[in-house]
Amino acid sequence: MAQIHELAEVLANQIAAGEVIERPASVVKELVENALDAGSTQVDVLVTGAGLTSIQVIDNGGGIAPEDVEIAFRRHATSKISSRQDLFKVHSLGFRGEALPSIASVADVVLETATDSAAGVRVHYRGGKLLEHATTALRPGTTVTVTDLFYNTPARLKYVKSPHTELGQIGDIINRLALSHPDVAFSLASEGNILVRTTGNGGLQQTIAGIYGVKLARKMLAIQAEDLDFKLQGFVSLPELTRSARRYLTVLINGRYIKNFQLNKAIIAGYGSKLMVGRYPIAVIAIEMDPILVDVNVHPTKQEVRLSKEEELGKLLETTIFKRIAQENLIPDAQENL
Ligand code: ADP
Ligand code: MG
Repeated sequence: MAQIHELAEVLANQIAAGEVIERPASVVKELVENALDAGSTQVDVLVTGAGLTSIQVIDNGGGIAPEDVEIAFRRHATSKISSRQDLFKVHSLGFRGEALPSIASVADVVLETATDSAAGVRVHYRGGKLLEHATTALRPGTTVTVTDLFYNTPARLKYVKSPHTELGQIGDIINRLALSHPDVAFSLASEGNILVRTTGNGGLQQTIAGIYGVKLARKMLAIQAEDLDFKLQGFVSLPELTRSARRYLTVLINGRYIKNFQLNKAIIAGYGSKLMVGRYPIAVIAIEMDPILVDVNVHPTKQEVRLSKEEELGKLLETTIFKRIAQENLIPDAQENL
């Protein structure tokens, strides 16, 4: 008798969820990225119990057509790419078609969605099973409500840290997503209290003000550079305006927030010997390049990317920041501690 068999879809989704959905902040990231891919101009996130009790993401994007709603919850089902070629020029934040089935396999999910041309649909999944599919009147856009996260994966639930840590992670991901989309109005509320709010009026400095405060935003230096491969622009802090963690370094590639040690190192190198030991600058830098130079398909969460010309980009970043800071005539006695 054959001993090898294909896994049931729900089980396969739970295994995939292990990689994509690590903690409440991963759910927030995936749902907000979907909202952004749908062209939303406003995204509101409400959490209770640091996301373990509930996470709700409300967007005003294009919605999902009624006949597509259940398909969206199937593994590897996506509207964003369709060919191998597309994979080399990904313009959307999502493309793997894994988030919705993964989340639905480890939580209770209600998705309500409407396009501007069809009636709304409400679906309810729990542990990967469809419990309800109903037609309802809704405004265009999508609202996803996730409760009981990890209720059926006790090992994962155990791994989740304190509410303080988990809420911090949620705030961090919202900050990065907001910084990467200055033209989208974001809000994050926890237990009904607003923690983050950006205006979505399009200016990066304005968005930095919404996130790190007006006083800090005013002190940031604008940078800009371009060569044959890269175009970069953003804001960096003066050498005396620092933080004790790298968390305030945000690098965006083609609108996607990424984690890249080498590029962070290049930013820091741009400060030469001006930073105190253990201190890091604040920076938000948006880089545009031909998508062919970026491989996003390295890790399921897509935060690690492989860059073909990483060293060149690092050099450009370093020299741009170095020159910009050299322009500022620093008077050591007038240094301010923020
Ligand atoms: P991916 O984002 O990789 O395509 P997901 O599982 O996250 O995969 O979503 C599956 C599909 O469901 C998306 O390709 C998109 O067509 C649709 N979808 C999900 N969320 C939204 C949303 N908020 N608004 C509109 N469409 C959505
Ligand atoms: Mg997605």
